[in-house]
Parts: sequence; structure tokens; C-alpha cells
Amino acid sequence: MLDDRYEWLRALNNQSLPIETIQPHFYDVPSVLWDVLRADLIHPVCSGNKFFKLKYYLQDALQQNHTMIHTWGGPWSNHIVASAYAARQLGLSSLGLIHGNEPGLYSATLQEARSYGMELQFTGWPSAPLQTSIPPNSYPIPEGGYGAEGARGAADLISTSLASAYTHIFCAVGTGTMIAGILSAAGNAHTTGVAISADPGLKTSIEKLQPGTAFSLNTDFHFGGYARKSPELLAFMNDFYRATGIPTDFVYTGKLMFAVASLIRQNTFPKGSRILTIHSGGLQGNRSLPNGQLLF
Ligand SMILES: *Cc1c(COP(=O)(O)O)cnc(C)c1O
Repeated sequence: MLDDRYEWLRALNNQSLPIETIQPHFYDVPSVLWDVLRADLIHPVCSGNKFFKLKYYLQDALQQNHTMIHTWGGPWSNHIVASAYAARQLGLSSLGLIHGNEPGLYSATLQEARSYGMELQFTGWPSAPLQTSIPPNSYPIPEGGYGAEGARGAADLISTSLASAYTHIFCAVGTGTMIAGILSAAGNAHTTGVAISADPGLKTSIEKLQPGTAFSLNTDFHFGGYARKSPELLAFMNDFYRATGIPTDFVYTGKLMFAVASLIRQNTFPKGSRILTIHSGGLQGNRSLPNGQLLF
């Protein structure tokens, strides 16, 4: 591949992701190891799992000589802003199809996506859809990167040998693409994959991408549903940050860390368990919170 637009993809792809160990005084059970894979550090905008889920779609779009991509998401979508940034890096134009009606004031996420050159169109709601117009040669990237290429990219987050060093790998789940990739990378490493999600229906979405793999889906830590929050969650995120220096977001990774800390403290894990949590990024979404609620 001589085209230097691939350089950006390659550079991000070759970054190694740090692993940090949480000190047991935070979770009180020293017989259990808790590590965090800091995928959030890969890039400030294309953070966490988003680069990994996008990369094979983007490579495919370039190889097929497309000059434009389009994809879907909500007004605070990490996927939308990551897609907008990545498209600009690769010299592709981009269109974001945003759920809902056009707001009077765009969210910080949509403003940022637009600043990277993404055109935004609003899809309305299923009951009252709006007309959108997608140029015929634009390359579609599924919402959240959900699909075989997205899972193949997410599999590159972790190697089989790294996965086999852990008894449990915990992921926050939206579409299920990332955990499907992680499960495929773990292969027969005898690691239990645990998905933390608000939606029991995700079991089917994950199985569709990664048939025949065992994992468990825990829906106990939803805090009222997708993108809902409580003062308890925000207080935990501040505590976690104070103890570890690791910032989290309230939609995904805050709930993930809360879940893992609670499950460890409830003595759910056998002695000697080695837990890896994937920090999948997403910090930009905290901009939807009123100022002053988080320490970071
Ligand atoms: C998008 C996202 C997820 C969900 O990933 P899926 O592959 O859709 O399950 C998890 N965490 C963060 C921070 C995200 O931005």
C-alpha cells in the first residue's frame, strides 16, 4: 500500500495499549487482580474501541476508491465524531445521519463532527421519519461499526496470549461489536467474556456476530437504561478517578468499572481471579453533563 493516506491507519494500529493495575485498596479483595486495558488512550477523538471498529471499513472504502463514507448515530455518539475525524484524516468526505429532529442548538459532539467537515442530516424518528439524501457512491459504515468488519477490527484490541492471562474480560456493550471481536481474539483461551449492558436483547446481537462462543451478559448495572445516570454513578466515577487517575464516561465505562468494583466487593470471583476490563474510551460524551459534576 503506497498511498500515504494509509499511514494514519497504520500509525494508530501499531500503537501499543498500556495495561494498568488497579490497587486492591480500592476494591478491598487483594486475592483478585484487576487490570484495565487503556484503549481510551489511543487517540483523543478516535478513542477506545472506535478506531478499531472503523479501521477495516475505512480501509475497504479506500481500496474501493470511494471518496465518501456515511454512517448513523445519536447526537452524542462517539462513533459519529470518530467517523468524522477518521474520514477527514483519510481525505474522505463524510455524512452523518443523526437520529431525531434537527435541534436548535447542536450538541458539542455534533458541532465537533461538523468541524471535521462531516455533513449532518437528521433522520427523524421511526414514527415520523425525515427525508435524507445519501449520494449513491458513498460507502456505508453500519451504526456503531456493527458487522463482521467491525468485529474483526475489535479483535485486534487484544491478542490471544494476552486474553489467556485473564480469567475474565469485562466490556461495556452498545451494539456488541467490540465484545464479539474480543471473544474471537480470546479463542479457546478459557477466558470468560462478560458484557455489561442495559439491554438483554444484546445476547442475540453478539451471538450473530460471534456464533458458538460462550459469554455472559450482565444487565444489573444499567442505572435506569442506556445513557441514564444517577448521583451514585457519578460519585463512583469521581472516586475511581481519585483512586486510579483513570477518567471514565457515564454511558459505558463508568458503569463498567462500577460493575466490576461491585462484583469484586460482593466476593463473586474465586480467589486468584484475574480480571481485565477494556477501557473503551468515550469520554467526549461527558460533555452532555452539566458542568462541575465530574473531577476530570
Ligand atoms: C461505542 C462504545 C462502546 C460500545 O461498543 P460496541 O462495540 O457498540 O458494543 C463501549 N464503550 C464505549 C466507551 C463506546 O464509545
